[in-house]
Amino acid sequence: MPVIDETHEPALTSWVPGANGHRDFPIQNLPYGIFSIRGDTPRPAVAIGDKLLDLSAISGLLPVEVTGSTLNALFALAPERRLALRRKLSELLSAENHRPALAPYLHDIADVMMHLPAAIGDYTDFYAGIHHANNVGRQFRPDNPLLPNYKYVPIGYHGRASSIRPSGVPLVRPKGQRKPPNAEVPVFGPTQRLDYELELGIWIGRGNELGEAIPIAEAADHIAGFCLLNDWSARELQAWEYQPLGPFLAKNFHSTISPWVITTEAMAPFRIAQPQRSEGDPQPLPYLWDEADQQAGALALNLEAGLLTAKMRDAGAAPYRLSHGPASNMYWTVAQLVTHHASNGCNLQPGDLLGTGTISAPSEDGFGSLLELSRGGQQPLTLPTGEQRSFLEDGDEVILTAHAHADGYVPIGFGECRAMVLPAP
Ligand code: CA
Repeated sequence: MPVIDETHEPALTSWVPGANGHRDFPIQNLPYGIFSIRGDTPRPAVAIGDKLLDLSAISGLLPVEVTGSTLNALFALAPERRLALRRKLSELLSAENHRPALAPYLHDIADVMMHLPAAIGDYTDFYAGIHHANNVGRQFRPDNPLLPNYKYVPIGYHGRASSIRPSGVPLVRPKGQRKPPNAEVPVFGPTQRLDYELELGIWIGRGNELGEAIPIAEAADHIAGFCLLNDWSARELQAWEYQPLGPFLAKNFHSTISPWVITTEAMAPFRIAQPQRSEGDPQPLPYLWDEADQQAGALALNLEAGLLTAKMRDAGAAPYRLSHGPASNMYWTVAQLVTHHASNGCNLQPGDLLGTGTISAPSEDGFGSLLELSRGGQQPLTLPTGEQRSFLEDGDEVILTAHAHADGYVPIGFGECRAMVLPAP
């Protein structure tokens, strides 16, 4: 389990202007990412306030080598070596005497391009948000929203890694097959039910060998960090194609992640008990059960989704808050997802990405997709501009954010996961 140490000390401050009290990236966070500036070589950085520090330029000062155009090697490090790096960066960015040596390698995040933090070998999406599963299941099976396996097995499917993009890259409205309710045969064309899904992404750190499982008590050590994930979905394409093998082209056309990796180490103060299972729910099978994980395996993280339409953008308006709610609305802990994934001997590798599934709260103000918010398109939302939305229109931008809070600690944030919808070609 990650430890709380001097890097989380609330009194710790940084000499970097604007870092202290920063909403996302105070010195207690220290997330990693890959950036380039003016088209030069992508390389690793740590975010501090509104700035980043180019780690490739200061590698001589660091206890581990941090080079290359991805963070896969950093993810693969043993947890104690990642911790040593974090402690060194915390010292370098807090002690004023390091300022002259490091200040030349600070850049404004607003001036750089952020890339995917890792070469993502494989991407898997789970379905751990139980309220989302209930809400969606109810639209199809009002009396029996959850299928019988849900409370025994963490449901997931293999997604598509090649179409994952960092925040800021627009997505093109996909085309596909849909079968209108009264039509005899399907038609092909741009989706009319484009949706977002508010999810947490889990970056795999150390992998496991093919054929070897990851015991639940060790699963936290295999997680390098977290990000926000928008699993864009084309709902009517999904409804037509998903049986019997599950999601395919309705989900794999584009997924957006936030570019900064919020490390497992940074999240140490924000671990909370997994919510109790409801009365009558089955006890998970032993390979998924660990008391320490139940005591501290959930995250004290508030997730939020916002919408900025073209009209709102033109008017200079702030994004409209679609929903907000805690990440603890997951039926399984992130450790349970990792352990389940490797339980058959499937080898996870550094830089693999797992999605939790849409995280919805029980009440409407916490629904994590338009499918839920608009009741399957039956009840469009009315925005402050007077515009209505059942699903996303061209020019709409969806913005996901997350903030971790715990009494006695400095809150940290994930930065933004945002992208705009472009028209189908
Ligand atoms: Ca999903």
